[in-house]
This record gives sequence, structure tokens and C-alpha cells, in this order.
Amino acid sequence: MNPPANAAPDNLADWTVLKFGGTSVARRAGWETIGALMQRRADEEGTKVLVVVSALAGVTNALQAICDAHADADAVRAGIDALVHRHEAFADELGVERGAVRDRLAELIGLGVDPRAASGALDWQAEVLAQGELLSSTLGAAFLQAQGLDVGWVDSRDWLQAQALPNQNGWSRRLSASCLPQADALTRARFADAGPALRIAQGFIARGEDGGTAILGRGGSDTSAAYFGALLGARRVEIWTDVPGMFSANPRAVPDARLLSRLDYEEAQEIATTGAKVLHPRCIHPCREARVPLWIRDTARPDLPGTVIDGGAATVPGVKAISSRRGIVLVSMETIGMWQQVGFLSDVFERFKAHGLSVDLIGSSETNVTVSLDPSDNLVSTNVLDALCADLAQVCRVKVIAPCAAVTLVGRGMRSLLHRLGEVWAQFGRERVHLISQSSNDLNLTFVVDEALADDVLPTLHALLAQSGAMPVHETAVFGPSWRRICAADAARTPAWWETCRDEVLARAARGTPRYLYHLPTVRERARELAALPAIDRRFYALKANPHPAILRTLEAEGFGFECVSAGELEHLFAVLPALAPARVLFTPSFAPRDEYEDAFERGVHVTVDSLAPLRQWPELLRGRRVLLRIDPGFGEGHHEKVRTGGREAKFGLAEDALPEFLAAVRELGLRITGLHAHIGSGVQDPRHWRTVFARLAALADRIGTVEVIDVGGGLGVAYDPDGEAFDLGAYGAALADARAGWPHYSLWVEPGRWLVAEAGALLLSVTQVATKSGVRRIGADAGMNALMRPALYSAWHRIVNLSRLHEAEGAPADVVGPVCETGDVLGRRRCLPDATAEGDVLLVAHAGAYGMSMANRYNLRDLPAEDVFDV
Ligand SMILES: *Cc1c(COP(=O)(O)O)cnc(C)c1O
Repeated sequence: MNPPANAAPDNLADWTVLKFGGTSVARRAGWETIGALMQRRADEEGTKVLVVVSALAGVTNALQAICDAHADADAVRAGIDALVHRHEAFADELGVERGAVRDRLAELIGLGVDPRAASGALDWQAEVLAQGELLSSTLGAAFLQAQGLDVGWVDSRDWLQAQALPNQNGWSRRLSASCLPQADALTRARFADAGPALRIAQGFIARGEDGGTAILGRGGSDTSAAYFGALLGARRVEIWTDVPGMFSANPRAVPDARLLSRLDYEEAQEIATTGAKVLHPRCIHPCREARVPLWIRDTARPDLPGTVIDGGAATVPGVKAISSRRGIVLVSMETIGMWQQVGFLSDVFERFKAHGLSVDLIGSSETNVTVSLDPSDNLVSTNVLDALCADLAQVCRVKVIAPCAAVTLVGRGMRSLLHRLGEVWAQFGRERVHLISQSSNDLNLTFVVDEALADDVLPTLHALLAQSGAMPVHETAVFGPSWRRICAADAARTPAWWETCRDEVLARAARGTPRYLYHLPTVRERARELAALPAIDRRFYALKANPHPAILRTLEAEGFGFECVSAGELEHLFAVLPALAPARVLFTPSFAPRDEYEDAFERGVHVTVDSLAPLRQWPELLRGRRVLLRIDPGFGEGHHEKVRTGGREAKFGLAEDALPEFLAAVRELGLRITGLHAHIGSGVQDPRHWRTVFARLAALADRIGTVEVIDVGGGLGVAYDPDGEAFDLGAYGAALADARAGWPHYSLWVEPGRWLVAEAGALLLSVTQVATKSGVRRIGADAGMNALMRPALYSAWHRIVNLSRLHEAEGAPADVVGPVCETGDVLGRRRCLPDATAEGDVLLVAHAGAYGMSMANRYNLRDLPAEDVFDV
């Protein structure tokens, strides 16, 4: 890899700035990588190295929560205690003396009892928020020094000075500050003299105008690195992150999207602004002003070229990227009065301003003006829109068109490309284009279409642009490997169990398909990972995900209890495990009939009630019982609206405001509430939700008084897409530990289903027919939505491979469909299976162990799939 050189090196331009995010700095292995990279830059390039770091993953959120809770001294203390504990534990993991952070932790503790806390003063908040980076950089410096590196610690506030902007208020000056670093030889010399050639500093913080601490806003740490780059006139700024760089389209939507290995500042700025999330647009500007190259690198894939952003590249004209922004609202305004009415535009925009709305795109004709509102710049609620429309109706006829998506082509020399876009126009001609806008800087062309069309149009559009030459993908200096290729390389690194045991899996398929196959060692591995989290007292497996007897036995042997939602599940469970102690079983039904509760009480398992109805309808059945109470915390989460089980729209749980009435009924019946339960949804990726859930339940539990257990449900997400981010179990454990710190007297129970078994299962199918109709190729399989409902029901994505031809090259895209008489019977769209795929080949649908067989059905009177386990 040739690193980019600074356009104008001088003998003081000898710093390289490296930036690392929260995930890297929260692990010992991350710090080993940082140390090795510092050393390598110093040895191989002879440069001095400044490393800029974020806080440990999750810490800034925890600090923000402390700020939000400022008036509640107990909550502040609990939050701080948890952070002290986390950093001491991390010091232990790094093998660093806890003494190295003692003073810093004392400062944090001091902020907790600071008199400014009560009012939540902005300067106090800034100091609190700054502690995350101060702590991570201090620990990191101590670790690197212990490894024998001569590393100096820099206080970023000594070098980055916040500058007030004209339209900033007190809040944004303190907590969303900006700097205007000027590279001057004097500052550089002063910085060089201030410490050794290897240095570590904090992202996110700067010196406020009053000399206190200020916080940089969104994208804070990347921006800090860019500021330091500019200040030092650095050779370059390297942003080390967890994605390979910027792409020619969102790889999730367009697997053929290419890594962009070189962009100029303006293009990168445009791509970042129109949708790519890799880099905050704000951090490009300082580097561009100072002509310092930016280099985005992937910590997990260091051999990829990354994305270089600089001004020295010979510009290659052409489309570099397509992006799409969803949730766009169009407001179309027709003049009522005269043609070319004087002052019409000003009348109209006056009203947008009055409602605090900033307009993105504008299209106008003699009698019509149409503008777009981007939800990322605006709070576009129905109320705001209604008020705006009422107001606009005084001067024009208004029509709101929503939801729309803005599809933007970004690249240099857009005007000279128009003749190549014929195919693109034709593509859009079939759809509805509401607005087209070309920027005056010749860098972008935007189409606004109905939101539902945008996702489907992106892959086709990307392919058309490449074919027509409008996107010059053969320019290897600009276009790197495709996301598909990068993933194939990743997949080659860590094969799935069914790849390692392919022959055996094919042999099982030969016994007959459709067939589910479950790999028990994978179930065991997941079970042990979960059991290793110290914050959790008891684990229950939600067996509706997959009640196969071998899986139940495996998890029982790993010490798990079980979560049942019906009398049928209870019966099945005790039939498979007759000796199971009832205390290891939870029963959490929803709108179940009376006899199911009776059955559960008789068996002696833990019963959860989730509304007042059972108490009212069957008082004698419930009198004097011990029960758990399921609460609806008022919000849901998950991979699809159909799996969100909290919030007003969901049928589950007692609303918090109904608690007093419920407790009155509890007293009347002499019931005892021994636990509180919540399960807000399935496929939740963000571990912070469980902390929120725990805190909500614990606060209610304090009011009830008899509660011993808090059960935060299941819902842990799974990365179905091998390129998706795996569920961060470490962060989940940390979030729960964090939550518990405030309420150590409650036991914590969890009840995951999906996460334990999804990856362990595969669905094996046989190809029946391959057919092409009107240009769409389809590969038929001997089962579809009857065997696996998830794609049809939730638009879920499952990886599908041709196991018989696993090592053959990918072919043209095809839809993989089942034999059921329903248009929705599609297991996967646009999958690139080998072109030779033919009748009798074995297809494998991966990650099908959860909610696969348990939801299979006999629709069209097709047989249920067979089931098989595998234990090697
Ligand atoms: C389904 C369910 C679970 C498990 O959900 P997963 O998303 O599979 O982890 C846990 N608790 C209850 C009450 C459930 O209904």
C-alpha cells in the first residue's frame, strides 16, 4: 500500500495523525494494533505520530446519561460508579496499574458532587463529557509506555481553541463547538518541542473561549484528528474505523458497489453530505483548507487500500457514487394568481423560514415551485407540515408528496456526462421522477422519486452507470474492489460450520430435502459466550425460536432455563426434559385462555401476567399467587415492525400508567409481584436498549417493593448478512453491568431465543427449475415460504449459497423462489449463484436456526421440512 504523500511537504510537515474510535480503544488487542502502527509509521516513514482517540465504546453515552440525569444525585452517583468500575476493570485488562487513572477518576467523582451538577450547567456538562476521552487516552498512554514505547500524553485543550460562530447560542458554543486551526510554523515548533515523537491526544474536546472545556459536536473525534492535521500541517490524517472506506453506493443496497480508493476533497465532501455515513462531512473541510490528505482505513482489514481523499489526484471525470436519502418530503406550490407573480418566491420562502424549515432542493417553472425537505436537517413532523401548508395556502395551492427519496449521482464533470445518461433517463422514465436538480458546482445531479422505488432502482442504476461508462469503474486508481469481493475474502477467512463440514452437509441433503440441519457445537459456543457475562444471574432460552429436542437438551446441559409462551411449549419441554425443575421455567403467554394459566400454576413454573384482565376475570385462580409482571416500557425495537413488542401499537405488557390500578388489584387478591419483565422486540442491534429497559423496570420495582428479579427479555440481534455488524455481546454485557450498578439488589434474568440458535441452523433445499421471464432469472427450490417464512413475512435477508457448486464463480443475479402459489414466495432477490446452477443442486439457506422450522407450515399441502442435528 502506498500511503498518500502531502502535496507540499516542508521539513516540519513530519507528523502523521492517526485516529481510532471507541471499539478499537476498548480492547487490549486494539491498543496493541495502535502501538504497532505508531511504531511502523515512525520506523518506515520517519514521521512523528500523533494518535487521537475516542472514549471507550459506550462511555460517551453513559456520560451523556449522567448529564441528562444531573438533578438526580443518586442516578449521577450510580452512573459514575459504573464508569469508575469499567475503567478500573479495563486497566486490569491492559495490565496497567490502576494508579495510572486514579487522579482522572477522582476528577470524575468530583464532578458528581460538584455544586454545578444540580442545575446541569453547560460548563459542567462539557467537563463531564470530556472525561471519556481523557480516561481512554490516559489508559492507552500508560499501556503503550509499559510496552516500551516513549509516548507522551497531550491535552487537546492546550492546542485546539474553539471559535464562536455568528449564529451559535450558548449551548452550541459549549457543546457543539468548532475550531479554525491555522497551521503556522511557530505553533508547530512549539508542539514539536512539547514532548516525544510519539504522542496521544483526545478527540472530541477543545478549549472553550472562556478557557474552560468545550465539546466538538457530531463526528467529534474525526473532526479533532482533522483539526490536528491542519494545525500540524501533517503529512496526512488516517482515520482507522470498522468499514473499508467510502463506496460508490451503499453496499447494503448494492453489493457491486466499489470501494472508492481515491477522491478529491470536493467529491468526498459531496458524498459525505448526500448520504455516506463513513466520515462526518464536517471533518473534510479543515484538511481541505490545509491541503492535508485524509486516509480512511479499516482496522479489521488492514490490507485493503482504504479511501484516500486529497487534492493532488489527477481528476478523473465521471460519476463516483450514487447515494440515496430516504424520508424526503416534497412541497409543490402552484401560483393561484398571476403568471410570473412578483415576489412569489419570497412570499413562499418567508413561510418556510417562519416554521424553522431549511429547504434542500428547488425546482421551479413559471407557475410552480417545488422544494424538498430533508429530515436530517429538519424536524419534519406532521404538525409542522400541517401548519406550513395552512400558511402557504394563503399564497398558493400546496401539495405535499411524501415519502420520497433523493437519489444523487456525485462526481466531477456531471454536465459533460449527460449524453451518457440516456439509459439512466430511460430507467427513471418508467418510474415517477418528481424533481431533478443539478448543482451549480457541477458535482451532483439529484432525482427525487417515490421512496418505495429508491431501493429497487439503486442496483440497476449502479450497473447502468458502470456499463455506459458514466461511472469509470475501469479507472483502478479511483475504483477499488467491490463490496461483494471484499466479503468473499472475509468469508474465506472465517468459514461457517457448513463450509467446514460441506461433504457431511451434502450427505445429509442426499437423505431428502427440504431439510433443516442444526449444528450443536455452535449452540454450545453461543451458550458459553452468554454464560461468561458476569452481569447476568440467570439465562432462559425462549424455545419458540426452535424447540428441537436436541437443542433443548444441549442448552439444559449448559445450565439454561427455558422461556415458554404457551401450554403446548410447556408440555413439549417437560416431555423432552422430564426431570427439569419447574423453577427453571418461565411462562409468558399473551392473551392465553384460562386453562393455560391453570396448567402453568399446577406445574409450579414462574408465571408472568401482562395485563389486568387475568386478575379481573379469574380472581380465584390468581389469589395469593407469586407472579412476574410484564411491563410495556412504552417503546419497541427490532429488525421489523412486526417484531416490536413494546409501545402503544403492540399488544404486550402493562402500560406504566396503568400500574397504580394494577397494584390495587394485586393488594386485593393478595398477589405478590416477585419480578418485572419486559421484552421490547427481536433482532435489536443496539445494546444500550437493555440498559434503558433495566433502568425503567428497576425504577418501577422500587415503587412496588416486593420485586426480586428484573427480566429484560431476549431480542439480541444476529448478523444475517455476513458483511453486517455482528451483535456486540461485549457491549451488551457492559450495558447490563452498567445498569445493574445502580440497583445491585435485583437479580438480572435474560431470555434470548434467536441469538442462541440462528447461526446453528441451515435450511437445505434442492433446485427444481431455472427459468427466465422478461429478463428476470429465477432459481426454483423445493420449498420456500412454507419452510422459511421470514423473507416473506419480515422481508428478512438470508444468505443463500449453491452448496453443490460452492467454489464456482458467482453468476448473473437471480431470484431464488419456492414452489408455493404466492407472489411473495421469494427466499432471496438478486442473488449471484453460479451460472451453471441446475436441477438437483443443493441450496443452503444460512442462519435459519431461529424462527425457521418453528414457523414452518403446510400451506399448499406441502410436507413440513425434515430436521436433523449435527454434533461434531
Ligand atoms: C420471543 C420471546 C423471546 C425471545 O426473543 P428473541 O428475539 O428470539 O431473542 C423472549 N421473551 C419473550 C417473552 C418472547 O416472546
